[in-house]
Amino acid sequence: MVQTTDAVIIGAGIIGAATALELNRKGIRTVSVDKNPAAGYGSTSGSCAIIRVHYSTLEGTAFAYEGYHYWRDWADYLAAEDERGLAEFRETGCLVMCTEQNGNMRKHTELCEQLDIPFERWNAAKILERLPIYDLTSYFPAKRLDNPDFGKPGTGTVEEAVHFPTAGYITDPQLATHNLQRAAEAAGGTFLFNRAVTEITQSGGRVSGVTLDDGTEIHAPVVINVAGPHSAKVNAMAGALDDMTIATNALRQEVVHVPAPEGFDFFGSAFVTSDSDIACYCRPEKGNFILIGSEDPECDPREWVDPDDYDRNFTDQWTVQAQRYAQRVPSLGIPGRTRGVVDLYDVSDDWIPIYDRSQIPGYYMAIGSSGNQFKNAPIAGKMMAALVEYCEAGNDHDANPLQFDLPYIGRTVDVGFYSRKREINRESSFSVLG
Ligand SMILES: Cc1cc2nc3c(=O)[nH]c(=O)nc-3n(C[C@H](O)[C@H](O)[C@H](O)COP(=O)(O)OP(=O)(O)OC[C@H]3O[C@@H](n4cnc5c(N)ncnc54)[C@H](O)[C@@H]3O)c2cc1C
Repeated sequence: MVQTTDAVIIGAGIIGAATALELNRKGIRTVSVDKNPAAGYGSTSGSCAIIRVHYSTLEGTAFAYEGYHYWRDWADYLAAEDERGLAEFRETGCLVMCTEQNGNMRKHTELCEQLDIPFERWNAAKILERLPIYDLTSYFPAKRLDNPDFGKPGTGTVEEAVHFPTAGYITDPQLATHNLQRAAEAAGGTFLFNRAVTEITQSGGRVSGVTLDDGTEIHAPVVINVAGPHSAKVNAMAGALDDMTIATNALRQEVVHVPAPEGFDFFGSAFVTSDSDIACYCRPEKGNFILIGSEDPECDPREWVDPDDYDRNFTDQWTVQAQRYAQRVPSLGIPGRTRGVVDLYDVSDDWIPIYDRSQIPGYYMAIGSSGNQFKNAPIAGKMMAALVEYCEAGNDHDANPLQFDLPYIGRTVDVGFYSRKREINRESSFSVLG
C-alpha cells in the first residue's frame, strides 16, 4: 500500500502528538506512526508529568514558563472534544529545598525574576507548618544502601526552600496525549498504531518518506523523529548522525509508588517537591500515595540501555529511593511489595533537548527530552511546526537560526539553543533538572 501526506511523524508520545496538532493547524497534513497500540504508551506513560518552572538556563526557564500556560488553559488550547475527557492539571505548586548543591536556589530565582515568574522563600517553620511529616535534618551527600554511613545525618538542617506556585502535575499523561491526538485529528491529522517505521527513504537529495513493518510506504517531503528513547536508533536508520555533536542515549529510571504516612492527607495538602539534599523529587498521587523519583546523585550508577532490551523489573534502586525519602519523612511506611514505574529517559549529552533540522533536507528531530520535557510538549510542538515551515521555505536554520516567539510570555527564543550541532551547554545541571 502507498500513502501520501505532507509530513510523517515517527512517534505518538506527548511531544509527537503536540507536533502533529501544531503542523495540522498550519495546514500541513500529518500521518503519525507509532509501534505501540495507542498514543502516549511510550515513555510518556511512565512520566511523573510534573509541570515546574525552575531550570538552570534562562532559555530553559522561559520555555517551561511558557509551557505552564498551555496546561493551565488546556481546554482552550485543545479546542477539541475527547470522548475520554480531558487530562487534569493539579496546580499544587512546587517546593525546592535550598541546598549548597543548588547554590541555595540563587541562580534559579534570579532567572525567575528576569522572567516575572512568581516565587516565595519559605523558612523551616513554614516548611514544617505545610509538611508536618517532614524532618529537615541534612543527609547530604546521597549514599547507596551498602554504604555504612547510609541514614547517618550529615551536618545541619535544611533551613529554607523556594515555593513556585505556577507548578504541579498532570494526573494522567497518557490521557493528555490522547487529548492531543483527538485535537490533531480534528485539525486533519491521521494516526497509525501498531506499525513500526523500518526505513526512512530519500530521493533527489532529500527525505522522501518512510516504509513500515507491514510494507506500507508513506511518501512525504518531511519526516520528523519524535521517537523518544529510540531517537538514536531512528536517526541511525535515517543516516542523520554524522554532523551531530550532541548524542542521545536511553537511560533506565525507576519511580517509587508508596502510601503516604497514615493520618496525613498528602494528596490533598502536599505539593511537588525537589530535594537535592536527599537526591529525590516527589509528588502526590491519587489514593494518598507518593511518587518518588531520583535526582541522579553521583553515587548512583547510570544505566545506559538498549531501548529494545532492558530490565523492566525493580532493583535495589527502588529501595534506595524509598529509603532516601524516608530520611525526610521518618513515618513513611515502605511496603514489601514494590510498585511504581520502570521506564527510559532519552538523554542528550547535556540533558537539554534537541529541537532541530538535520543534515538531510526534510528530516527533523525533537529528541533528547532528558526526563524533563513532558511539561514543554505543547510549546515544543508549536516550535517544531514553525521550524518545519521556516526550513521548508528555504531558510538556512543552521546559519541563521529561527527566532521563535513565545506567545504567552512575550519573549523570543533563539532556536539555535537546541541545535544538534551545539557545544555542550555547561550551564546545564547535567541531570533530570535540566
Ligand atoms: C520515569 C519518567 C519520569 C518523567 N517525569 C517527568 C516529569 O515529571 N516532568 C517532565 O516534564 N518530564 C518527565 N519525563 C520526561 C517526559 O515524560 C518525556 O520527555 C516525554 O514523555 C517524551 O515524549 P516523546 O513524545 O518525545 O516520547 P515518547 O513518549 O517516548 O514517545 C515516542 C514514541 O515513539 C515510538 N517509536 C519509537 N520508534 C519507533 C519506530 N521505529 N516506529 C514507530 N514508532 C516508534 C514509541 O513507540 C513511542 O510511543 C519523565 C520521563 C520518565 C521516563
